[in-house]
Amino acid sequence: MYRNCTGRGLSFWGQFVNAVLIVALLFMMMVFCYHGFYFYRFMIWLKDPKANIPPKAQGIWKHVFDMFQQQFSHQFTHQAKTHKKDEDKQQRTIEYLNHIISALPSGAMIVDSQGRIKWKNRLANEYFGLPVELGKKDTLKTLINHLEFHQFLDTAHGERKDTTQGKISIDKKPTPLTLWLTAVPFEAQTSLLIAHDISAAEQLNITRSAFVANVSHELKTPLTTINGFLETLQDTPDLDADTRNYFIGLMQKEGERMLNLIADLLTLSRLENQSYQRITFEAIDLSHLVISVLQDSKHLAQHHQLTAQIADDVWVMGIYQDLYSAFSNLILNALNHTPKGTHIDVSLQKKEHTAHFMVKDTGDGICPEHLGHITERFYRVDKGRSRKTGGSGLGLAIVKHALATHGATLDIDSTVGVGSCFATQLTLTDTPNCHLP
Ligand code: ADP
Repeated sequence: MYRNCTGRGLSFWGQFVNAVLIVALLFMMMVFCYHGFYFYRFMIWLKDPKANIPPKAQGIWKHVFDMFQQQFSHQFTHQAKTHKKDEDKQQRTIEYLNHIISALPSGAMIVDSQGRIKWKNRLANEYFGLPVELGKKDTLKTLINHLEFHQFLDTAHGERKDTTQGKISIDKKPTPLTLWLTAVPFEAQTSLLIAHDISAAEQLNITRSAFVANVSHELKTPLTTINGFLETLQDTPDLDADTRNYFIGLMQKEGERMLNLIADLLTLSRLENQSYQRITFEAIDLSHLVISVLQDSKHLAQHHQLTAQIADDVWVMGIYQDLYSAFSNLILNALNHTPKGTHIDVSLQKKEHTAHFMVKDTGDGICPEHLGHITERFYRVDKGRSRKTGGSGLGLAIVKHALATHGATLDIDSTVGVGSCFATQLTLTDTPNCHLP
């Protein structure tokens, strides 16, 4: 430091200046360290001011940090709010999509290559009886014990590049379930499995096949009979006139049966399609209609005790042809399916706002196991007897449909050995000022 040029010790002033310089140097170093330290922390904080709380500081740096904190805080709050809004919006979109997928009329699952379910909707749970919460080790094969389904999964797994489709039937109560399955490869090693309920279409197919089989059978019997008689007439030209006429009479009866069947089939088909079209109802005098039915069936009632109680002016809104069909089928059934001498009571009464129609007989009655089926197409309790009376087996199906078009149902009450009662109720309408024919 300061030395005098003589080489002797420092003078007092020299030593003083030296000391001052050292102190100043130390002070500067301290100041440098202080600022260096806080500048470093400041830089770190600036890198991500949002994530870090500003470092604690003393002196001027405290002011610097406070100033920056204030500057940023407004911006941070705004950013945080926007971020929260975006997150909420995303969450709502996900929930909305989940709702849409859950509401789809199909079961849907996302399954990985090991058969573990990554995601599923409500209908998938319902169709396959899956638990809402799945265990870590659960796979489709352990959860669904169904051979056809396992085979489908194996095929889908083997054909990962293509869409796999197949049909399986699940024996569910009360009605079996038929599912149309589609497995679509989806992302890496995962598949989207869609199950669509086709039970109704399947049932319709079965019904259609059964219907075609029934109609064929119904037509085959009379045609075979007619063919048989024709062959006999051809092979025996010298047949006596009485036998010939007898055969011709039988053939005519069979021909009539076929015509009746076709007429009933056409009526039923019209009634079944009617619900899809616009129907125009008119005011109908039910009293007049029932009396007409009774007059038209009088010739069949010679061996029965037929009584009728028909109230006057019973008016309803409806379709004349269909109601005639329904009521005449019920009266003819009572005449055709009961023994000679049976008492049959036909009644039409007004009760408050309703027209009550009833056909009650004291015939053999119907066994309870048949009662639930007799309105089905071609269902007959006694097949031989019904065919003999010319019945097509479609009568009560026609009644049921015709009444349904009028918003009414057919109530059947029958006891074996006591008799049967077929009844229905229709809503009354005001009597029109001028009576329709
Ligand atoms: P069908 O053409 O044979 O009369 P329906 O559909 O009208 O066909 O009736 C179905 C079956 O219900 C009949 O075959 C018959 O066995 C039974 N049935 C209907 N009405 C009566 C009745 N009043 N008494 C006893 N059995 C009846």
